[in-house]
Amino acid sequence: MAKRTFSTLETFLIFLLVMMTAITVALLSLLFITSGTIENKDSGNHGFPTTQDTIATQASPVTCTPEPPLFQNFSGYHIGVGRADCTGQVADINLMGYGKSGQNARGILTRLYSRAFIMAEPTGPNRRIVFVSVDIGMISQRLRLEVLNRLQSKYGSLYRRDNVILSGTHTHSGPAGYFQYTIFVIASEGFSNRTFEYMVTGIVKSIEIAHENMKPAKIFINKGDVEGVQINRSPTSYLRNPQSERARYSSNTDKEMLLLKIVDLNGDDMGLISWFAIHPVSMNNSNHLVNSDNMGYASYLFEQEKNKGYLPGQGPFVAAFASSNLGDVSSNILGPHCLNTGESCENANSTCPIGGPGMCIAKGPGQDMIDSTQIIGRTIYQRAKELYASASQEVAGPLASAHQWVNMTDVTVWLNSTHTAQTCKPALGYSFAAGTIDGVGGLNITQGKTEGDPFWDTIRDQIFGKPSEEIKECHKPKPVLLHTGELSKPHPWHPDIVDVQIITLGSLAITAIPGEFTTMSGRRLREAVQAEFASYGMKNMTIIISGLCNVYSHYITTYEEYQAQRYEAASTIYGPHTLSAYIQLFRGLAKAIATDTVANMSSGPEPPFFKQLIIPLIPNIEDKPPIGRNFGDVLEPVKPKYRVGEVAEVTFVGANPKNSAENRTHQTFLTVEKYENTTAAWQIMYNDASWETRFYWHKGFLGRSNATIEWHIPDTVQPGIYRIKYFGHNRKMEILKPAVILPFEGISSIFEVVTT
Ligand SMILES: [Zn+2]
Repeated sequence: MAKRTFSTLETFLIFLLVMMTAITVALLSLLFITSGTIENKDSGNHGFPTTQDTIATQASPVTCTPEPPLFQNFSGYHIGVGRADCTGQVADINLMGYGKSGQNARGILTRLYSRAFIMAEPTGPNRRIVFVSVDIGMISQRLRLEVLNRLQSKYGSLYRRDNVILSGTHTHSGPAGYFQYTIFVIASEGFSNRTFEYMVTGIVKSIEIAHENMKPAKIFINKGDVEGVQINRSPTSYLRNPQSERARYSSNTDKEMLLLKIVDLNGDDMGLISWFAIHPVSMNNSNHLVNSDNMGYASYLFEQEKNKGYLPGQGPFVAAFASSNLGDVSSNILGPHCLNTGESCENANSTCPIGGPGMCIAKGPGQDMIDSTQIIGRTIYQRAKELYASASQEVAGPLASAHQWVNMTDVTVWLNSTHTAQTCKPALGYSFAAGTIDGVGGLNITQGKTEGDPFWDTIRDQIFGKPSEEIKECHKPKPVLLHTGELSKPHPWHPDIVDVQIITLGSLAITAIPGEFTTMSGRRLREAVQAEFASYGMKNMTIIISGLCNVYSHYITTYEEYQAQRYEAASTIYGPHTLSAYIQLFRGLAKAIATDTVANMSSGPEPPFFKQLIIPLIPNIEDKPPIGRNFGDVLEPVKPKYRVGEVAEVTFVGANPKNSAENRTHQTFLTVEKYENTTAAWQIMYNDASWETRFYWHKGFLGRSNATIEWHIPDTVQPGIYRIKYFGHNRKMEILKPAVILPFEGISSIFEVVTT
């Protein structure tokens, strides 16, 4: 018998048949496994899709039904992006960042936003991760715990401690008051439930929006240096790092921006996340207007560019500029100079010959702080725009996450195979009180102090008691100014328990850092985590440092930088081996992900959630207009005519803006409106999130106040007839009745804007 041979075409067809059968069997068994799992789940299902998840993914064609041609060979994820307001109070609250008493909020330059990104695997276990960048100083532990709580009540176990990262941009011009540890409550001058609620609601809302608009999409990664926007603010500390180590880098700051571009399958832009190491301190400690600083301005420009026709804070495109290892990186690029003489004070103590450390301030590059903010922000935005346009390398592969709570006061650090060291109970050193060249402290203490001062020691001992020998010894050579780890009234002053967390997307790993790593600390962590992944077979991982995540624990310097005891080292609260401890912990997480043993990892000790926090001392009083006037009445009118480049200004009878943070029916304190002849209607051109507008609140006596609105008329403006509106809320209090908050409006007279 002659052997029957198959033609190439027949072979191919048989191959296809076999493959199709195999795929059908695989899909069918997957269907049974998946549905079986869902049927078996209880209310505490761990890691499996919940009802909401099923609804969210039902619309997508990639799980159990045959894929339409569009999704064949689909390598991307299901991605949702969302943005929501989280501004909080803009009056009667301190700003968070400089720790300067009296630097309170008195109005608004821009709104603050939470920007959320959800990525889910399109098939299989449908694992997902959430990254949220928030325009605030830092994420507080209380904020994170409450956000996770609310996510759990709404989504079950879909969004959890291990797969949700919350990161602060580190603007120094957002409200304080959302912390539970005593040192931050004191710096905030009380815990503001109003601001806390506002922020929690905003963060959760941004995640809800992202959850609801998830669709198949792709991520592309790009990297590139941003020049001319950073200086190292502790260069003498950086020089303490070994020469051999420094020789491997061309700069004492990390200049590289890493950017993720997100587009849907039609190629339409959805959003971006970028990470870059810079302190948002272009706005200095004399500022009183709430705003998102240089990184926020970069977000604003990118979103305005992509969301054409939308007001700021609106539109589908979401651009997050997230923080990184910015611990020693300043945006005040002209460097430190003595205010009185103008000479450089770039020295190990950042002090001036006349006037001492209080005179040594860094500024630049603009005429004033808003100008500087915009110059730095625009440069960052422009580089991001280039990187976005040319991003072509796709991020693909499975998603994973690992998280632990760790008692950072008691970590045994393996220095080598035979020697160990310990982390310490939290304490701040003397140079913490010195502040930095971005914002000096008020006590005339210099940076770089390795010895205490009997005067301040005595005062501290009188008020708080003596620090133990153990804590003093552990923190050496840091002279302990405040032994926060031994203070527990009314609540602990600093966290013992912090979060360590990594999420991965394919070959990308995002490390969530609970504080501010210096440049070299970040480099060491990236290198160690990358090596750890590689040793378990995950080669060439890109490691991202995501700063100010989950809980705030100040700074983390290298062991060598710690010896110099400048501000960042004095603020490394768990002692000289803090960085080594983190490296060890993050390597543990990387190993767990690489070896697929996350499920075996202990979750660690759960952090506390304190009740009865100290409330602000500023009472809520009734707002009162002057006799014969109403809220919203114009006190100082606009001029009838303005030219481009001028400032239109109007002052109204006002009410405390914190009322509006309680009653969020109006999302803006102001609008600038243009009369459109064609429609015979007023059209809103600007709101309080616009960088062209400023809302100043002037507090008077006995509940009286004024509100001044400025519109800095840009050269892009259309000539025509304009008006300015003010939206406020006044608190009405009657005896034996609960206070009520009532909305009101004010309108300026109309005015003309001419371009010549
Ligand atoms: Zn900082």
